[in-house]
Amino acid sequence: MTRGASVVVIGGGWAGCSAAVAAVKAGARVTLLERTDMLLGAGLSGGIMRNNGRYTAAEEAAAMGAGDLFAITDAHSIHTNVSFPGHEHASLYDITTIEPPVRSALEHLGVTVLTQRRIISVRVEGDTVLSVGTADGETWEAGAFVDATGSAGPMGSCTKHGNGCAMCMFRCPSFGPRQGVTKLAGAREIALEGPRPAPGVFSGSCDLIKTSLSREIVSKLDRDGVAVVPLPRSFINKSKLSSKACQQYALDAYAENLVVLDNGHAKIMTPYFPLEHLRQVPGFECARYAEPLAGGKGNSVRYLSIAERDDTLKVIGLANLFCCGEKCGPYVGHTEAILTGAVAGRNAAAAAAGAGLLRLTRNTVTGDLIAVALDERPSAARFSSTLTFAGGAFFERMKERGLYTTDARLIRSRVRSEGLEGVFGRPVTAP
Ligand SMILES: Cc1cc2nc3c(=O)[nH]c(=O)nc-3n(C[C@H](O)[C@H](O)[C@H](O)COP(=O)(O)OP(=O)(O)OC[C@H]3O[C@@H](n4cnc5c(N)ncnc54)[C@H](O)[C@@H]3O)c2cc1C
Repeated sequence: MTRGASVVVIGGGWAGCSAAVAAVKAGARVTLLERTDMLLGAGLSGGIMRNNGRYTAAEEAAAMGAGDLFAITDAHSIHTNVSFPGHEHASLYDITTIEPPVRSALEHLGVTVLTQRRIISVRVEGDTVLSVGTADGETWEAGAFVDATGSAGPMGSCTKHGNGCAMCMFRCPSFGPRQGVTKLAGAREIALEGPRPAPGVFSGSCDLIKTSLSREIVSKLDRDGVAVVPLPRSFINKSKLSSKACQQYALDAYAENLVVLDNGHAKIMTPYFPLEHLRQVPGFECARYAEPLAGGKGNSVRYLSIAERDDTLKVIGLANLFCCGEKCGPYVGHTEAILTGAVAGRNAAAAAAGAGLLRLTRNTVTGDLIAVALDERPSAARFSSTLTFAGGAFFERMKERGLYTTDARLIRSRVRSEGLEGVFGRPVTAP
């Protein structure tokens, strides 16, 4: 493969998909390498978009020219404007059908998408990454690379720091463990050490097969997108709240009830729930887990491998490696992955073309999210909590700084006044 204005993105979750879109729109030739047989990674579960500050972020992305993937999640939303405890105006995309449209959109834009390509080696000369390679000897050279390998798993981490492999959508036993390019290239990774005794946090929700629930719950989900089912007192366990990745759902309402959302499956907002207890909850007598398959016992453990990077999302110590999504900070969310992916992809294309790197200002919610993780990382070089537009400390900060709004016109005019309107829609140019 030719060097020059070419970019290789490793990891096809929302962050990697977004990096690929941004890099191709910036003018690079782009190859996206994913280790499993499907794109979207953790985005194959979840589906909650536009809740709380994520609405502002999605509109900001559109104003900056990075709205392509949000247009797809909007088009595939089965519910919009849903409210559930602590969350307003959420939409829920259908996790069972979202992947093929994303893959075809990427290919339509000109991204070469290659699945079942697990990168296990990186060739570095000085501070420059030259190529990445798979176990069976395929290699890709490029002018710049994006590490979008996420932070979930591998199986050994879930065993060591969690309750064992829960058989989640990452399917490590079949496709091999996650491996970060940053670490393979010799740069530093940082772990999140939150309130749990072990590093990392559990993924905060599970998907049940919708048809395994009672007709009453299914029709409520079909109609409203949400059902809040009170738990018997003996099953209320508030200590589980602090172990989850999504601290925006660490509210008592999530310990006292089963909050169920319709994302194509029935998403329960709890990291795991013993099946024998779940089946004692009215309406859940026949419940079965869809994702993770062993959701009665555990869930994936995440945030053990965050790259050390600067505010352009360039990995510290390497001239042409960028990172995004869970790889670039303790960020929870599809929206957070898409927006950081846009910055990393655009900057990788710029680095490959010899053009200047983009630093989003702190007057954008994306720029502030990227900067806050740098402010918050203590000298002990670990993170202590996750960050998201959807709740917790960062959403409070958005409100305090007057950045949270659902007024699309206001968001666009803010983006325009920062000189960033359409910035992700234009090719980068070298001086
Ligand atoms: C169960 C669950 C439910 C969630 N629910 C929601 C929700 O409703 N709404 C929301 O906004 N967020 C939700 N989240 C969080 C959100 O999904 C993630 O924060 C976000 O999608 C992470 O995206 P990413 O691209 O950074 O990482 P990932 O999605 O982890 O993607 C990384 C990709 O890299 C690949 N990869 C890893 N190593 C290699 C390698 N060496 N070579 C090639 N490929 C590699 C992996 O296979 C994977 O596809 C949920 C997460 C989980 C786990």
